[in-house]
Amino acid sequence: MYYGKSPEKHTVSKLPQKLTPLRSPHRGMINIMPLQAGGILTDAAREALTEFGDGYSVCDFCSGDLSDITIPPVRQFVREVLPPFLGCEVAAVTYGARDGMFMVMHSLAKPGDSVIVDGNRHYTTAVAAERTELEVIEGPHSGYPEFRINVDEYEPLIERHKPRLIVLTYPDGKYGNLPDARRLGEIAQHYDIPYVLNAAYAVGRMPVRMDALGADFIIGSGHKSMASAGPSGVLGMRKKWEELVLRKSKAHGNKEVECLGCTLRGVPLVTLMASFPQVEERVGHWDEQVSKAQWFSAELEKLGFRQLGEKPHRHDLLAFETPMFYDISKRVRDRGYFLYKELKTRGIWGLQPGMTRTVKVSTFAADKEQLAFVVDSFRAILGKYG
Ligand SMILES: *Cc1c(COP(=O)(O)O)cnc(C)c1O
Repeated sequence: MYYGKSPEKHTVSKLPQKLTPLRSPHRGMINIMPLQAGGILTDAAREALTEFGDGYSVCDFCSGDLSDITIPPVRQFVREVLPPFLGCEVAAVTYGARDGMFMVMHSLAKPGDSVIVDGNRHYTTAVAAERTELEVIEGPHSGYPEFRINVDEYEPLIERHKPRLIVLTYPDGKYGNLPDARRLGEIAQHYDIPYVLNAAYAVGRMPVRMDALGADFIIGSGHKSMASAGPSGVLGMRKKWEELVLRKSKAHGNKEVECLGCTLRGVPLVTLMASFPQVEERVGHWDEQVSKAQWFSAELEKLGFRQLGEKPHRHDLLAFETPMFYDISKRVRDRGYFLYKELKTRGIWGLQPGMTRTVKVSTFAADKEQLAFVVDSFRAILGKYG
């Protein structure tokens, strides 16, 4: 009988040694990175992380449908906890915001259909549309410096293109602008077009309810904004879409087609669930987050930087033009990396290495004292090279 290569002859690759130690460079630092600030785990999630680290660890009592598992309480989370939180009738867990977007596009539209999106849409919206072979019609934004989305501009586009879907990014991931989502809900209802709210930067940070905004779908990201290890996301919808988007396989009656039968198993899901009580609680303190962001923005403008996006700002995601840093980068040895290095030395994490012309930060995870230190550090760096 043939058993394959004998173990003695099997050569062990050097690679595993090279991959260790796996240490996170940002651990213990003040984190102002937009991608990371809302995904930092709670203590409860950190515990769940090891408890459910093994593969397929939530499947002990699965009888075929993830959202029916009662130990751990997935069923309760998906059916009872998420819907009132999202303001939807039916909820599902997904691999991330992009997967929710793809599931909706793929189940509602067919190749050649068009979808209208805002001018600040995320790249994943475009890629999901591409995978579904949809034509993407992009609405305008107001341009520099605020890049506002005026949702009334959807109307002529809807009349002209008869789209299958409309998408609004709320807020967008570049400037943290919050367009008038409720007004777009009225427009969507008037034209009877399914309306998808991409709330990857909203769900888990700020109060946002699909029903209050008149949307058909709401999409959230667990690792972006819900303190989950991820990849994970949530998708809420009106009941009328359940049969289509969460339809079951003909061959396997308890397996959903759009998610290939099952989504989150183990760490992505249990960390999402474990963090949820605190996530729900923090959403209630959103006004404090907004005033922190506005304070930070004002402080940076006092240093001579210019905040891009809506003013006054209503989200923790902030972009600034920082021409003085750019000027410095042209005459120092580290070039654009000087800023990243200066901040890292001070225990501040989150600016994209090499970037100096504009910086994008989130004030969500850092407290006011830490943000004051960030402002002081910016000031000190300008002084040092000025
Ligand atoms: C981060 C982000 C996404 C992607 O989220 P994933 O959960 O990683 O798929 C989609 N849309 C917007 C607006 C985002 O900011």
